[in-house]
Amino acid sequence: MTPTYDPDNIFAKILRGEIPAHKVYEDAHTLAFMDVMPQGEGHTLVIPKAPSRGLLDAEPATLAALIASVQWVGRAVRKAFEADGLTVFQFNEPAGGQTVFHLHFHVIPRREGVPLKR
Ligand code: 5GP
Repeated sequence: MTPTYDPDNIFAKILRGEIPAHKVYEDAHTLAFMDVMPQGEGHTLVIPKAPSRGLLDAEPATLAALIASVQWVGRAVRKAFEADGLTVFQFNEPAGGQTVFHLHFHVIPRREGVPLKR
């Protein structure tokens, strides 16, 4: 069974303004900020304001708002970093590679021939 949402996770603290983040986009339902350990130039995280642990417990309306923001941020970073492409990924639970337990998408602009750092 999936554990419940922990309101003390680091992204919840960023949402509440308790710890700083380099914010690049915000609307009523989502927030985007730069990853503190980027896997590539322009690595951005996009999160819902709703308290979802991962993809599987999120409400459809949360996911709709989130993917729209992922697209908006993807277009913005692709342009800002003059990228050739875009990588988007998302992990769920420790076995799936998740380390911060508030739903998030990674959005990374990509240059031809430049690998990710990890
Ligand atoms: P996950 O493996 O859960 O999909 O990725 C979590 C991401 O959050 C990692 O890429 C990590 O670098 C990033 N991260 C962890 N702590 C912080 C933080 O305090 N601030 C920011 N901006 N990113 C963080």
